[in-house]
Amino acid sequence: MSFAALGLSSPLVRAAAEQGFEVPTPVQAQAIPEVLRGHDVWALAQTGSGKTGAFALPLLDQIAHARRTGAKRLHALVLVPTRELAQQVGDVFRSLAQGLPGACKVVVAHGGVSINPQMMALRGGADVVVATPGRLLDLVEHNALSVSQLQVLVLDEADRLLDLGFADELGHILDLLPARRQSLFFSATYDDEVQSLAQALLHEPVCLDVEAESTSAPDITQRAVEVAAPRRTPLLRHLIESQGWERVLVFVATKYATELVAHKLHRAGIAAAALHGDLSQGGRRAVLDAFKARTLRVVVATDVAARGIDIVGLPAVVNYDLPRSPAEYVHRIGRTGRAGESGVAVSFIVPDQEAHFRLIEKRQGMRVQREQLPGFELTPEEREAQSATGVDADAPKGLDPHGGIKGRRKSKKDKLREAAARTQQGR
Ligand code: AMP
Repeated sequence: MSFAALGLSSPLVRAAAEQGFEVPTPVQAQAIPEVLRGHDVWALAQTGSGKTGAFALPLLDQIAHARRTGAKRLHALVLVPTRELAQQVGDVFRSLAQGLPGACKVVVAHGGVSINPQMMALRGGADVVVATPGRLLDLVEHNALSVSQLQVLVLDEADRLLDLGFADELGHILDLLPARRQSLFFSATYDDEVQSLAQALLHEPVCLDVEAESTSAPDITQRAVEVAAPRRTPLLRHLIESQGWERVLVFVATKYATELVAHKLHRAGIAAAALHGDLSQGGRRAVLDAFKARTLRVVVATDVAARGIDIVGLPAVVNYDLPRSPAEYVHRIGRTGRAGESGVAVSFIVPDQEAHFRLIEKRQGMRVQREQLPGFELTPEEREAQSATGVDADAPKGLDPHGGIKGRRKSKKDKLREAAARTQQGR
């Protein structure tokens, strides 16, 4: 399968090749022809699946075509949950657009920085705007941009947009959009809220469950190491050194823990920094840039701060604290094993978190072998604490101490089918 066979025109095929994209990933192979045909698309696709190319390539093709016919207005609005993802998606559009015959203007807009340069950038219009929802609404309010003639709306990481509390902003934005438009909806996970949002904005969508059909699932080895809570930092140091990880992303539960763990590693001579939501935009960028430049070896982050981080060449992710939900587990481990590389995701299982991890495993339909590493074994007393909390994995909801996991749900595919049927009936 080639990009040309998907219906993309030759400048875009060349642009893809220049980015090193020779063979389409499964989500690209399935989505690109549908987008080119003008259909709405609802794709369940993980970060790392190549989903950005799946919408950027056909949208740029549409823009090149529209330019030939003289159409001039905002073509595509891509809504994303975080500043980092906004920058990344904007960068992908810009690099792919370099190969196009005419200039294609891409404007990235997100909060946390002054609005003025973004307003200036929008003068004279734009072909593509990539924005976080709050800032997009601010720009519309300032008359810097109108979305009433938009051709295509893209929601990227729609589940995270909802997780981060953007539901109201999305509702307002939808009210401003023309009823006649194309809409593309990308989400890694699937629950009732995601489903309602998809129904609100899609019209007779083509549904793609790429995760289930993917033949090139990322190569991520999952490990679960049992350890007592106070020995987690020494274990982390041991793993970083013994495994020779050049870069590690470590997830913890609180901002305080990011600082504490990073500080301890730093004291032990390992270049580490904390990444959390209280850092300024400049501070976050500096940490990520140093991580990309390899002057930092370890970044210790909370889930929210790490959203949207895309680093090719990240061999390891460590769950120092377990994530609250199975969906978050998928997001976290998906930070490694990107772009065809292999990666390892190590979860630290402290005794009273065993039951919680079992629920995550159950929801993923997988089982990860528990390990104990020499020098970090649990004592008999610690083991006892573990069996005391050894909740039956079939236990009903309410037993999870973190409250992150609800009762058993229908499979993703079932729900996707049901929802698609409803969407079509409801129109
Ligand atoms: P995404 O899921 O869009 O964040 O993409 C994940 C990574 O895969 C990015 O680093 C892309 O540069 C890379 N990528 C996307 N499409 C392809 C492709 N067709 N061939 C090789 N790499 C790709």
